[in-house]
Amino acid sequence: MNKKTVPFNEEQIRKIIADYPTPFHIYDEQAILDNVRKLIKAFDWAYDFKEYFAVKATPNPYIMKLLKAEGVGSDCSSLPELELCDKVGIHGRDIVFSSNDTPYEEFARAMELGALINLDDISMIDYMTERGPLPDWMCVRYNPGPLLKGGNDIIGVPEEAKYGMTREQVFDAIRILKEKGVQHFGLHTMVVSNELDPNGLINTAKMMFELAVDVQKMVGVNIEFLDFGGGIGLPYRPEQSFVDYDVLSAGIKKNFEAIMEPAGLHKCRISFECGRAITGPYGYLVTTAIHHKHIWKEYIGVDASMANLMRPGMYGSYHHLTVMGKENAPLDHVYDVTGSLCENCDKFATDRSLPEINDGDILVIHDTGAHGHSMGFNYNGKLRSAELLLHADGTVTKIRRAETINDLFATLDFSNL
Ligand SMILES: *Cc1c(COP(=O)(O)O)cnc(C)c1O
Repeated sequence: MNKKTVPFNEEQIRKIIADYPTPFHIYDEQAILDNVRKLIKAFDWAYDFKEYFAVKATPNPYIMKLLKAEGVGSDCSSLPELELCDKVGIHGRDIVFSSNDTPYEEFARAMELGALINLDDISMIDYMTERGPLPDWMCVRYNPGPLLKGGNDIIGVPEEAKYGMTREQVFDAIRILKEKGVQHFGLHTMVVSNELDPNGLINTAKMMFELAVDVQKMVGVNIEFLDFGGGIGLPYRPEQSFVDYDVLSAGIKKNFEAIMEPAGLHKCRISFECGRAITGPYGYLVTTAIHHKHIWKEYIGVDASMANLMRPGMYGSYHHLTVMGKENAPLDHVYDVTGSLCENCDKFATDRSLPEINDGDILVIHDTGAHGHSMGFNYNGKLRSAELLLHADGTVTKIRRAETINDLFATLDFSNL
């Protein structure tokens, strides 16, 4: 269970809306900080623990800077994400570059910033060495394929996933990289996504500890960096519960002591690249109900659309919804809550029991702090919204303005029509 509350009441949010019209995403600064501190504290037993925030989840420099001050690094997979790190002052091995299908310019920029490159495929070794020198540190990405049972809906089963190398390729890649002069090695994997069961995450860590020991045996290399990827889930539904970081950490510790320490690998950095779990629950899409339609079903039309939050339309994901001022009203109406795209999947909720909604009511869509604004798009000429940061004292900073029609037209040339 988790309480789906919001960090403001109706009066407070209406005051914010007076300055910043809906729709917008608003992020609860203190809650993000409390959460990331809790995660880092849970791993204080580790010789070296690092969280690399998956920039794609919320690529906003204010959020990245906030996290940087807590010792959090960045996980990037594109050139613009690397440039964001540079602008925020995140450099060196505080960046892990977990890209795939990567053009050389991106590797080159990552190396220039000193990022730890996480090689997605063995063919990338030739691709890189034909174009320039290799860095001292390299990480290789593992795909256990059918060796791992399970997987889940968002990421799929590992043998269907395009990422990473097979077990044999991992050994070969490290052998070859070592011959080519690479001195420090890491291993990475990401086999779960939005995982709420700590055992799924603990098993990933266990698998990686065993792989590190196998690398030591087969190749004679001591792994200095282990990255379990992202994937800590969040309880989108009220009946679900948050992953308990202490339970997660205790399970990983037990395996670390049993597998890594006897092999003399106790100084290995262990890390996550979580995005969703870091900011997801602490962001809210605030939108106004503008229309009410009664045909075969009851529809509430809002001023946000799937262009502001793609997950419900794309994955059929549940996002909890609060009608401001009606938090305790009976849920005696059943609605589809829709955006204005000419796509029938543009719905934030389907057959949802809610209090009666009137035009002008403020609706808050929960858990949009990660993979929310960042998955936005401009289809149907829709504009992406502003992003606001809500401070502990109730004040707000606009950390991204809303797009304008001129932004949308910026790549067009009307002068020679
Ligand atoms: C998307 C992604 C992440 C972050 O996933 P979350 O679900 O946000 O934790 C981390 N690492 C890699 C390589 C990814 O592709």
